[in-house]
Amino acid sequence: MSDYEKRIERAKHALSEAEYLLIGGGAGLSDAAGLSYSGKRFMDNFAPFIAKYGLRDMYSSGFYPFQTQEERWAYWARHIRLNRYDAPATDLYKDLLSLVKRKRYFVLTTNADHQFFKAGFPEEKVFAVQGDYGLFQCARACHDRLYYNEPQVCEMTSHTEDCRIPTGLVPKCPVCGGEMDPNLRKDNYFVQDENWYEGERRYEDFLNSCNDKKVVYLELGVGFNTPGIIRYPFERLTYANRYATLIRANRDYPDGLKENMERTIAFTEDMARMVRHMQP
Ligand SMILES: [Zn+2]
Repeated sequence: MSDYEKRIERAKHALSEAEYLLIGGGAGLSDAAGLSYSGKRFMDNFAPFIAKYGLRDMYSSGFYPFQTQEERWAYWARHIRLNRYDAPATDLYKDLLSLVKRKRYFVLTTNADHQFFKAGFPEEKVFAVQGDYGLFQCARACHDRLYYNEPQVCEMTSHTEDCRIPTGLVPKCPVCGGEMDPNLRKDNYFVQDENWYEGERRYEDFLNSCNDKKVVYLELGVGFNTPGIIRYPFERLTYANRYATLIRANRDYPDGLKENMERTIAFTEDMARMVRHMQP
């Protein structure tokens, strides 16, 4: 048996024994699912923006200082449409659901692309802690309502010319009249509505029910952009519970807390293949 096969067997065993299963999904998960933010997928979809602004990938483009709202929204509308609306449910997320659906599980994700929901994960089992591309908010968080944006986004993308949208399509806050933003945590103005707090409460309830139980923490594609949300907590939780196992899939950063080494199963291999191999 190869080393890879041994780790798969260990992971399968841990999953079959687990009473509770917590998935942590990071950017690397959607990348592995085929929704890459760089390379060909980026170049195919953003050629005019790359030529005009020298953009390098969809992650750093989110921070590009566009000079006008018309240009900023031309970029964001295309980004949101591609990743939130045009992308179908991917096989990797669907395989994940079939891996966990017979378990007591919960999902914590930093991904704003709605993939867990598209794959059929129930709303009440997923906490998308960093927001949702499909929602707009007041850029200054003057009120905490969120606005579903599909019709607006599609109108913007179909009227984009020379990397600009028409001024009349620039979204404005219905309360203060100021700028709007996608509902993403990138500054202190991130809006957390009732739905967000409900997700947080469910996540905490789930963590409490896991105390001293056989738990598998399945950490998928979580790097170091926001390690305090999934990566470090999962390591602490594993450390605190001797019945816990951490399964980590990470191409670039497989190593974690030394103290957890015996109860960590790490994979740097292809994540989609790994999830298929772990099916019971
Ligand atoms: Zn406002």
